[in-house]
Amino acid sequence: MSNADNNPLSRLDKAATYANIDAETVERLKYAKSSLDVSLPVRMDNGELKIFKGYRVHYNSVRGPTKGGIRFHPSVSLEEVTNLAFWMTIKCAIMGIPFGGGKGGVSVDTKKLSKMELERVSRSYIKHIADFIGPDIDIPAPDMYTNPMIMGWMMDEYSSIKRQHCPAVITGKPIPLGGSRGRDEATARGVYYVIKQMEKEENWQPEKIRVAVQGFGNAGQHMADLLHQDGYKVVAVSDSKGGVLQESGLDIPAVIAAKNKIRNDQAAYGKAQLCDFVDASACITNEQLLELDVDILIPAAMEDQITKHNADNVKANYIFEAANGPITIEADEILHRKGILVVPDIFANGGGVTVSYFEWVQNRSGLYWGLEKVRKKLQATMIREYHNITKLMKKHATDMRTAAYIHALNRHAEAVTALGTHDYFAATTLPRGVAESV
Ligand code: NAD
Repeated sequence: MSNADNNPLSRLDKAATYANIDAETVERLKYAKSSLDVSLPVRMDNGELKIFKGYRVHYNSVRGPTKGGIRFHPSVSLEEVTNLAFWMTIKCAIMGIPFGGGKGGVSVDTKKLSKMELERVSRSYIKHIADFIGPDIDIPAPDMYTNPMIMGWMMDEYSSIKRQHCPAVITGKPIPLGGSRGRDEATARGVYYVIKQMEKEENWQPEKIRVAVQGFGNAGQHMADLLHQDGYKVVAVSDSKGGVLQESGLDIPAVIAAKNKIRNDQAAYGKAQLCDFVDASACITNEQLLELDVDILIPAAMEDQITKHNADNVKANYIFEAANGPITIEADEILHRKGILVVPDIFANGGGVTVSYFEWVQNRSGLYWGLEKVRKKLQATMIREYHNITKLMKKHATDMRTAAYIHALNRHAEAVTALGTHDYFAATTLPRGVAESV
């Protein structure tokens, strides 16, 4: 992770003081199980050979095979991937799905690759990590700048290497290649179900709730669209180049159409920004978006967006972390002091990995579910874990992130305890010689 202030392990010790977990188990959670560091030689369209760095980390597999996305971004490093893999360990425990945590990535700027170069990088990555992944070992998925088509190429490459069809090796695939209905919208829909639950509890009137969404890819677009369809006033959205603001509420389908136009025609539009194509009252920067006077702020882009430098200027009452790690630890404390409720990434965006789990189950059973079944099961999971977390929040009078960590640590500890902890082994009453002869 780029910012030392955002070392996720520092949140572990705080939560551990409230959880039913022994010190050894907490200590073990501070280290990744194993990591792979690969170099990918890729022939570019102009004949030149380029080497890209790739990584895959298995953080912890006590609760099941490791699970986590693959990120393609220039800032990808072993440290970033390890931190994201730790979060996946915590997230899978919170969501109650039988996976450990993993993550992977390639340090690459996809905007500088042709489509054929992108396919070669994707296939090369899988060729180099093929022995490290598998349906019962480690199951990748999409993350930033990777998409269903890339997951399809990766599944195809892995299946060629293994000489058998292996859809369950990777999730987030296109539906004709064994993907699950509802996986594309799952991350945002999970956040949406939590918002709907809070709307019910706090009697919100959607048309009066102003929302800003930072990041306009998979998570951000679906998020803005779901809330817009539901009558929420989405006043601002942004992507890596900047954002748009419209006080009366944006026409989100029109903004999505503009974004797709820009993406499909980069050559013609060059450095085009969202606000060049949308009938909105103002072009804004990403920094301005985070400080808008809105009710709900949804970071759905990258880590380290709200820091000690801008946290004081945040005016939203609620922040739903669709992105992983958008708030640094120091910023989190400032927001908590200001009375802003942060629904943390490790729970809020858990809809993605939950439907990835559903996809894996469907691939292994060979039976495919309808969209309504996927949505219903996702909703049930989000609401069940929302209640589990809010109960702990009240019991320990703590913020929601700490409560989510406590929940994860309790679940993780149950699995470790079933294998025997220090307390179990130290409490044996058998004399030494007898124990050895059993
Ligand atoms: P994506 O590649 O589809 O979209 C990323 C978006 O962020 C793009 O619109 C990009 O323009 C924008 N962006 C990049 N840098 C930015 C910056 N500095 N400021 C503002 N916007 C910026 O990625 P995604 O899958 O939507 O992932 C977004 C976040 O959600 C990541 O943190 C990811 O880890 C998290 N997440 C994704 C999933 C999933 O299933 N896709 C699941 C859980 C969490």
